[in-house]
Amino acid sequence: MKLKLGHLFADKLNLYGDMGNVLTLKYRLEKRGYEVEIEQLNDSNFTISNYDFLFIGGGQDKEQQNVAKLLESKKSDLSKFIEDEKPMLAICGGYQLLGESYLTSDKETISGLGILNVITKAKEEKNAKNFQDRLVGNVVAELDFPLHIESSVTTLVGFENHSGRTFITDSRTSTLATVKLGFGNNDTDKKEGARYKNLFASYLHGSLLPKNPHFADEIIYLTLLAKFGKAPELKKIDDVIEIRAHKKALTLH
Ligand code: GLN
Repeated sequence: MKLKLGHLFADKLNLYGDMGNVLTLKYRLEKRGYEVEIEQLNDSNFTISNYDFLFIGGGQDKEQQNVAKLLESKKSDLSKFIEDEKPMLAICGGYQLLGESYLTSDKETISGLGILNVITKAKEEKNAKNFQDRLVGNVVAELDFPLHIESSVTTLVGFENHSGRTFITDSRTSTLATVKLGFGNNDTDKKEGARYKNLFASYLHGSLLPKNPHFADEIIYLTLLAKFGKAPELKKIDDVIEIRAHKKALTLH
């Protein structure tokens, strides 16, 4: 029972320990007896359909510009991967690149793949009251959808640092969570992240999955379901420390 996890552009998009997301999936799958291989996919020389799960992290605008060009050639394969309900997690800069476009604070437009119906714009009105250039800090948010796995925890915790404000443009794309602390997608609607089929996108670094083991297990559940075609039984593993870290983060506000 072998699974292949692909980490897209790990050499360019990997802020604030984003790689920890892939390591967490590997750790939790191995504890349950699966063999897991992680591959870093750093140029365009790879085949999307070889992977059971894909991850893309965050980065600086400059790096996003480079990755946008490389991603362009993968658009149809990646769309097929998502339409086939294979799971993918995208964080911050990677999230923006899967959307329609990102207008940076330097007024450059980075074209995205348009798999997620979202647009992102950096804040423009520098003289506006309460102007904040970047949205930075800890985030606590309540999940907007029920999990397949059994869990008493329904929150997401993490850390955000972005200038882009993201807005959903079509009901085909839903949100991930409702913000209780911090900003999330933007500084107006108190929503965090986006979801289309089993593509999950979030602004939460930190990294996300080590501190949110229930969400890691949801992604594992969906990965195994997509791979083997039947609902998996997820054996309980010892994650007392991870849950304690999550609960501590909940008390930050
Ligand atoms: N460069 C993007 C922004 O500032 C993404 C940042 C990130 O990935 N943390 O909005």
